[in-house]
Amino acid sequence: MNMEPIRPITSTLIRRTLGWALLCALVIGSLQAWLTYESVQSSFKRAVRDVADTHVPLLSLAVWDIEPRTIQRQINLVLESPHIGYVMLKVSTGQVFEGAKSADRARATPFIFNIPPPNRTEGSLGTLELVADMQALYREVLHSVALVLLQCLVLTALVLGMVVTILRRDLERPMRRLADFVTSLKADNLTVPLKLGRAPGHAYDEIDLVVDGFKTLQASIHRHISTLDAEVLERTRQLEAALASLKTMSALDPLTGCFNRMLFNERFPGEMNRAQRYGHPLSIIFCDADAFKSINDGHGHLVGDRVLSMLGACLQKELRTDIDWVARFGGEEFVVVLPETPLQAALDIAERLRRDVAQRIRLTLHDDFELSVTASFGVAQWQSEEPMELLLQRADEWLYAAKKNGRNQVQPVRQ
Ligand code: GH3
Ligand code: MG
Ligand code: MG
Repeated sequence: MNMEPIRPITSTLIRRTLGWALLCALVIGSLQAWLTYESVQSSFKRAVRDVADTHVPLLSLAVWDIEPRTIQRQINLVLESPHIGYVMLKVSTGQVFEGAKSADRARATPFIFNIPPPNRTEGSLGTLELVADMQALYREVLHSVALVLLQCLVLTALVLGMVVTILRRDLERPMRRLADFVTSLKADNLTVPLKLGRAPGHAYDEIDLVVDGFKTLQASIHRHISTLDAEVLERTRQLEAALASLKTMSALDPLTGCFNRMLFNERFPGEMNRAQRYGHPLSIIFCDADAFKSINDGHGHLVGDRVLSMLGACLQKELRTDIDWVARFGGEEFVVVLPETPLQAALDIAERLRRDVAQRIRLTLHDDFELSVTASFGVAQWQSEEPMELLLQRADEWLYAAKKNGRNQVQPVRQ
């Protein structure tokens, strides 16, 4: 992320506008000064001529009558004009009369007028030399230029103030809110509405376009996330179902449908813990098909498999649902787990199972040969704190006893 300090766009705009406005004011001011100078100068010339037109006939009379005091008074009167800085009257006889507002008259060009005899246009009694008051001229030009510059500056300041207010309100504030909104957007609060708080009734502009763009973007991201959530949920559900069926499949023996040895090893310790915790009895029955090898040998492995499948089904059918359970321990050997069952009850159950196996497992083979199957059972009750291996060993010993005693029976014999 860029860590540079923010320089607001409006400040940049205002700075640039101010620079241009000052430059424009300077150019316009200079132009105006030059125009003013020209116009003041021509109005000066006009004023000097007016003065000459007014005073030349009077001076002509005064010179004709040879009245030096009147001539000097006239010269002083001419000097009262704001545009005249120096007056000099040279009479043909050689006399000179003059008057000045200031000593500085070197820079100005003199205006020279002939003084004819009274009521005549021709002939000359002398010349009148008028010099413009340059200081007054400069003062007027300066005053005029200052006024123009002041007007320019006031106008610029007013326009600039208005531009600043509009830029701040219509550009900087909404842009800043937009930036704050964008930086505060998080994946979990995408639906937060974008509010710029703009003045009501403003024209639909680029900022509104950006706002609408954001709204569309938010809606589409929200839609995307929602459908994504639904998809993830559906996939999770499918995965859980697949996992559950996988777990069941991995816990079941495919041939008999009973639990397998792995599941027995996982689940049986839990049964022992429960029995220990509640002080309830727990028994197991080992069941082994009799002379199964001869079935395989005599009728083939497929028949042997069918017998095993029937044996598993037969054992499961006779047990309490959701309490007792059967696992294929290996080969043609099954273990029946009987929670909350003491030895005597387990022996009864084993006897019932033995009878069912002998009666129900019958296969009609070729030539109407009927194959019947029996199984032997060894029963043991778990004793408190007894390890699983020891219990299995005791049950196996009873199974061995049943086999040894002639098969198709339950051991130990019920008391
Ligand atoms: P006993 O009465 O003493 O138990 O004799 P048995 O023949 O049943 O016992 P033995 O241990 O001699 O033979 C068990 C046979 O079971 C040997 C093996 O080939 C067979 N067997 C083990 N698992 C399967 C299986 O999944 N399918 C089939 N068809 N046979 C199996
Ligand atoms: Mg066996
Ligand atoms: Mg056997």
